[in-house]
Amino acid sequence: MRARSVAIVSVACVCIGVGIWSLGSFDYWDRTSRSAQVLPSPAATAEVAEVAVTASARKSFDDLLRQYGSVPLADAHNHDASDFRYLDMPSMWKKDAVDRVILFGDVSESSAIRTDAYAWKAYTDSPDFFVPYFSGFDLHDPSSLQVVRENLEQGYFGLGEIAAASYNSPVVSKVEWKAKDPMDGFLPQIYDLCAEFQAPILLHMDPPNGFVIDKLEEALSAHPKTIFIFGHANAYNSPENIKRLLEKHDNIYMDFFAGFTVFNLESANRIEDFLPVIRQFPDKFMLSTDSGYGLASEEAAIEAMYRVLDAIGDPALIKKVAYDNLDAIIRNEPATQTQKEAVQKQDAARDVAKLTKLEAGKLLWGK
Ligand SMILES: [Zn+2]
Repeated sequence: MRARSVAIVSVACVCIGVGIWSLGSFDYWDRTSRSAQVLPSPAATAEVAEVAVTASARKSFDDLLRQYGSVPLADAHNHDASDFRYLDMPSMWKKDAVDRVILFGDVSESSAIRTDAYAWKAYTDSPDFFVPYFSGFDLHDPSSLQVVRENLEQGYFGLGEIAAASYNSPVVSKVEWKAKDPMDGFLPQIYDLCAEFQAPILLHMDPPNGFVIDKLEEALSAHPKTIFIFGHANAYNSPENIKRLLEKHDNIYMDFFAGFTVFNLESANRIEDFLPVIRQFPDKFMLSTDSGYGLASEEAAIEAMYRVLDAIGDPALIKKVAYDNLDAIIRNEPATQTQKEAVQKQDAARDVAKLTKLEAGKLLWGK
């Protein structure tokens, strides 16, 4: 029953999505537009789709899956905790050989408290697949420090997606708990907590230039032990800006929203334009779908990740960007005291001294 309804929903999404995607200039930042709004004429849609296909589909998606399906692949930025959307995804993730999903829901607003809990539920059901992040705290209120500490202590792996600045996005610019800039509110103290737990923080920042990035650089310098991930760093941003940040700061990583560069007509750059900086910093990039935001479908966003891997070409670099760079961060997080106590409650003889957060989760929640 579920399989059948998922199939019907998928077809509907693709139809809606193709229309929306060709309207990219209006709605990239407008998540709500995916489900409504005016569609272009079928002829216009077909024309735009054809241009994109000719430009990007030398190999079919099936060809890419055959070639790269055995390479471990992680999605570093996924919102499918919102509305429990992740429950409809496993068949697609399986078919498309996705091996890990960094899962969260809403962005820096009170509804995120609920979707953070959904991400946690997904994780405790499938600790081998999901890695939960959270963003349900008011970063202008001192209570945020308690929420961050408690959630990291409980076992969440990171913070995200956090609205560290948003001026252009019709959606994120309106969220109630957004920061004015990456040093606003209690963010500095939150960065210190992240460092204490060795947990990364995934930031949304738009525009990706000007004073927003000046403040990001201030944060990067003032919190050298904190791991910052620049969310969809390639969206409306140039390879030169990314390169400049990476050359100056060791503690920033780039979440590369493949679908934006591959399929969104708003992208001023092609994959090829980013390859030099990816090669220059082979340990700093990770791939994501952003749940297909602004694209025809979430699956198009997954396909785009494979197209980026294909463009990278070099097997060692593919492995890093597809999985290992992010895995190194996740794997480095130590188990918390709370987790260690819970593990020892199950098995008093277990040595927990060097236990990692990833291992603790598998022991506590693995089937
Ligand atoms: Zn996002």
